[in-house]
Amino acid sequence: MFLHLNQVQRETQERVRTLVASEISPKAEEIDAREEFPQSSYEAFIKAGLLKLSLPIKYGGQEADATSLCLAIEEISKASPASALLVFPTQAVIRIIREVGTKEQQERFFFDMAQGDKLCGFCLTEPNHGSDAGSLQTRAVLDGDGYLVNGTKTFITLGPHAHYYLVFVRTGPGKRTGGISALIVPRNTPGLSFGKKEKKMGLGGSVTSEMIFQNARVPGENLLLQEGEGWTILSRHANVMRVWGAASMSLGIAEGAYEAALAFAKKRSQFKRLIASFQAVGFMLADMKMDIEAAKSLIFRTSAMIDNQEGTFRDIETLVSMCKCYASDMAMKVTIDAVQIFGGAGYMKGSPVERMMRDAKAIQIFDGSNQIQRMVMSKNIILD
Ligand SMILES: Cc1cc2nc3c(=O)[nH]c(=O)nc-3n(C[C@H](O)[C@H](O)[C@H](O)COP(=O)(O)OP(=O)(O)OC[C@H]3O[C@@H](n4cnc5c(N)ncnc54)[C@H](O)[C@@H]3O)c2cc1C
Repeated sequence: MFLHLNQVQRETQERVRTLVASEISPKAEEIDAREEFPQSSYEAFIKAGLLKLSLPIKYGGQEADATSLCLAIEEISKASPASALLVFPTQAVIRIIREVGTKEQQERFFFDMAQGDKLCGFCLTEPNHGSDAGSLQTRAVLDGDGYLVNGTKTFITLGPHAHYYLVFVRTGPGKRTGGISALIVPRNTPGLSFGKKEKKMGLGGSVTSEMIFQNARVPGENLLLQEGEGWTILSRHANVMRVWGAASMSLGIAEGAYEAALAFAKKRSQFKRLIASFQAVGFMLADMKMDIEAAKSLIFRTSAMIDNQEGTFRDIETLVSMCKCYASDMAMKVTIDAVQIFGGAGYMKGSPVERMMRDAKAIQIFDGSNQIQRMVMSKNIILD
């Protein structure tokens, strides 16, 4: 599909596409099968400057806009969605510090991140509070010039491998969302430890683990905005990451699966004919491509609106939820059909499409489940 991209966006897309072809794609299957931190992708991303895409230019970054991030995450996810999860939470945290951090906080964190080797984790979910994040219980109590943090976060992407974590905690007396604050927590914080690494259905190279705070001492100067403004950060600043993060990952997964299925259908013969020539298979491919193009249009229209600061807060919130929900449902459907087109070969471990089908499932769940995204959409369209 033709996209209206500016020169920087086009160069970003080309640069990531080239890197993925040479460094990521050949190792994608192994990354999934080993179920360990993808060191080779991490090193390739450092070399290409992908971990600091969103950093301000004066710290050696590109100050990437939402569209450039969409393109980068889409390209990586066509080959290795697990590797995309090195870039995604890292850029989310950098963008949030860029938007709400004080000058002092930006200088402190961005100076350290300027080397381009720092990873960031995004920590919201708790064992008893997932979709109902507004009820989270991890507590931070002011003690002298710092916070003592106690509680447990769960299913945290990057687990112990990140250098900084954006952690949502409960401070002060505010009830529900009004009592939530956001802290930047360095990995070497005393009192912070990590629980077991989860064994997952998919995203094998993405480490997911529990994060345990036991009187963890976090400097007061690491509080973003004021106490009680954590929910504002989540809903006003973090929300758009769903477009270039979860939605673009889904788009990339669907494209990767579709391209593999198309190539297979044009090579595999049965009844002395290529299976692509059977209408049943051709129509599946047509539907896959149609759904991918629809998701792409929705994602890049929304990212352009974000970059150009168009639309009201509610317009953007609705479109962001649509992107996340539509693209991940689409990726699920497309990957299931890709496995079908591969036949038995698609069901076997090691086929790219079975891996992508398992990866796609996670995105219907994480970053606000698709049920929660439909709640946001329906609330907004009824209010309009
Ligand atoms: C691979 C992976 C990586 C993750 N990485 C991170 C991370 O880095 N940081 C982080 O903070 N979290 C992360 N998560 C957690 C993820 O965001 C949560 O799993 C998700 O928000 C859902 O929460 P839950 O698992 O507690 O499910 P629950 O909230 O218990 O929901 C269970 C089911 O009920 C549905 N449901 C809940 N409430 C409603 C409602 N009101 N109406 C209709 N249906 C409802 C849900 O949609 C879901 O289907 C990750 C999860 C996965 C799978």
